[in-house]
Amino acid sequence: MARFPRPHTPRLLYTLYSNKTTPSHSPTTALLSHNLNLHLRRFSSGNLARAAKEGEEPWWKESMNRLRNIGISAHIDSGKTTLTERVLFYTGRIHEIHEVRGRDGVGAKMDSMDLEREKGITIQSAATYCTWNDYQINIIDTPGHVDFTIEVERALRVLDGAILVLCSVGGVQSQSITVDRQMRRYEVPRVAFINKLDRMGADPWKVLNQARSKLRHHSAAMQVPIGLEEDFKGLIDLVQQKAYFFHGYSGEKVVTEEIPANMEALAAEKRRELIETVSEVDDKLAEAFLNDEPISSTELEEAIRRATVARKFVPVFMGSAFKNKGVQPLLNGVLSYLPCPIEVSNYALDQTNNEEKVTLSGTPNGPLVALAFKLEEGRFGQLTYLRIYEGVIRKGDFIYNINTGKKIKVPRLVRMHSDEMEDIQEAHAGQIVAVFGVECASGDTFTDGSVKYTMTSMNVPEPVMSLAVQPVSKDTGGQFSKALNRFQREDPTFRVGLDAESGQTIISGMGELHLDIYVERIRREYKVDATVGKPRVNFRETVTQRAEFDYLHKKQTGGQGQYGRVCGYIEPLPPGSSTKFEFDNMIVGQAIPSNFIPAIEKGFKEAANSGSLIGHPVEHLRVVLTDGASHAVDSSELAFKLASIYAFRQCYTAAKPVILEPIMSVELKVPTEFQGTVAGDINKRKGVIVGNDQEGDDSVIAANVPLNNMFGYSTALRSMTQGKGEFTMEYKEHSAVSHDVQTQLVNAHKGTKAD
Ligand code: GDP
Repeated sequence: MARFPRPHTPRLLYTLYSNKTTPSHSPTTALLSHNLNLHLRRFSSGNLARAAKEGEEPWWKESMNRLRNIGISAHIDSGKTTLTERVLFYTGRIHEIHEVRGRDGVGAKMDSMDLEREKGITIQSAATYCTWNDYQINIIDTPGHVDFTIEVERALRVLDGAILVLCSVGGVQSQSITVDRQMRRYEVPRVAFINKLDRMGADPWKVLNQARSKLRHHSAAMQVPIGLEEDFKGLIDLVQQKAYFFHGYSGEKVVTEEIPANMEALAAEKRRELIETVSEVDDKLAEAFLNDEPISSTELEEAIRRATVARKFVPVFMGSAFKNKGVQPLLNGVLSYLPCPIEVSNYALDQTNNEEKVTLSGTPNGPLVALAFKLEEGRFGQLTYLRIYEGVIRKGDFIYNINTGKKIKVPRLVRMHSDEMEDIQEAHAGQIVAVFGVECASGDTFTDGSVKYTMTSMNVPEPVMSLAVQPVSKDTGGQFSKALNRFQREDPTFRVGLDAESGQTIISGMGELHLDIYVERIRREYKVDATVGKPRVNFRETVTQRAEFDYLHKKQTGGQGQYGRVCGYIEPLPPGSSTKFEFDNMIVGQAIPSNFIPAIEKGFKEAANSGSLIGHPVEHLRVVLTDGASHAVDSSELAFKLASIYAFRQCYTAAKPVILEPIMSVELKVPTEFQGTVAGDINKRKGVIVGNDQEGDDSVIAANVPLNNMFGYSTALRSMTQGKGEFTMEYKEHSAVSHDVQTQLVNAHKGTKAD
């Protein structure tokens, strides 16, 4: 049976701008609360074991089965925001539809930031929840831009399933490949939605084939469109064998009819293709299929669910978000085919046992384990989004931040809907909620204190590009620091530092656009006008061989003098080691009193912050202290620190330092006629081409290119390919620059110092 509930109005919704704090009384919350009380009683009377023996379903089973945590990932402009808006409308979370580009001046609900409203793209992930057919769906709006992969990845980490939106005209584009790759990495089961069937040139079958070839999806259509482009009218459901039409002002009324007679043959063919494709990965369905047994809708639905949850199959839905067609069947698909939280396994790292992996039960029975995956600065202080992996969290509970060791009380628990929220009393494993007024960083793990688990560390890449920024007016300095603090806490790939020489503030991130967006946000959200320097690539330095040091720092200028001598060597850390800096004290005896050793380590660390080639941090360095000397009166921490700094400078050149630069994995897709020009240009940029495939009329080139040679590449590519080429770029590694580049960089650095 297809399920299409009518939109309903949300109950007691509170906005950020109101200070009402009365809890919501949605039936789900009430039920959960009731169930929790029952659960607590069971626990206290020790009845749980008995309940299990009697084969009774655990109290949380029902609500867990009816929970979906999903993301919507897409290539920019494929209609993710529009689709999300429609989902919120049909599920009754909003009452009106506003178009993304804000023709009516309001803007889509999810785009709560002005900047986003203007650009019509969702840059920051927001979490929102809605209900469909008595199922609770949490939607994490994942950002689409490649420069924001950390946000995408963090969001994917907390999802149990996702909708991959593809455009029926643009098809699978290079960015769709990137987001799909990320979903694969995080083992997220997904359904695809081919959007924009109303557009001229819409060809869902072409896009389905691209998904198979480019994304290597084992997939098949779940639907057949009735008409295309201007004539797009409805969809045939291949599982239920019915036709759906979308009536009403906003397509809210789904009318189910028989399959139009002239489409029966096509529907039968596509249904067979669906069954065949699923049979290839599902033994049970294969048996029925091979024996030529009739396959019921329920059997087919169950087989698709098993295959999708196991990530062996990607069901493909279709529609037009903009024309309000196909969204409700997609929502039904989310319930039918994407997993509930306990169908996905998650593990934590036990901090008391050498980070041993512990598989979490994923149920509310057990100690609380929750991950802070997103922070937002709200009017009432910091808002922290939590994904609960195990246990239950209640308002007023004491919870522990395992990363900082701090114990805190949960002052307020809310469920988020874009920038509005709803107070709740408690939430259990599988759910996504937000807490107020809790100081933490994104990526921190909270527990009830009985376990010291952290969720896996997220893949946080080092920033590859930096920019100097300075507020124009001194008066705005306060706002300026506030903005930078907030961005740093929200985005681990965004860092702020000071240039030791110029005293300027340096921001670092994952690319030009990443930094541009933050500069723009400083201007708009914090009203700080800032001057911006030229973006610079984050080079590093490292040593290639062992070099000895023996330095005596001695000063006698009346009063107490300074005396400290350090001996030892520096060397590169073994290849493959992930440590950036290691300090080993190998002194035997008391040549240097042990209370001065930390000052020596500090001195070397400080010196390594700025290598003498081009002033960039020296990494992959091991400092070994073997001997030294001290003076009973004149030795001090300062004397030893200075001795270490000079010692480092003394031996650095002998250790044959080299400059390392970030190398990017670049993926290009260009019409084949431009392949030669583009490949030649990549060579000129000192890139190494590592792959070259043909996809229809396009060439797909994979190359590793130094980031320093990629400034302004989008413009260059556009002019080389008449705007038809596209590319994605991801950080790969740091590697040594060639000898002449090193000489150039060193000379340029000397030049700036001489200025
Ligand atoms: P996002 O960047 O993926 O979030 O895409 P948006 O939702 O902002 O949509 C990009 C543009 O495509 C907007 O102008 C939308 O109005 C338009 N759009 C979205 N869905 C459809 C659709 O189904 N049909 C058509 N014709 N346009 C659409």
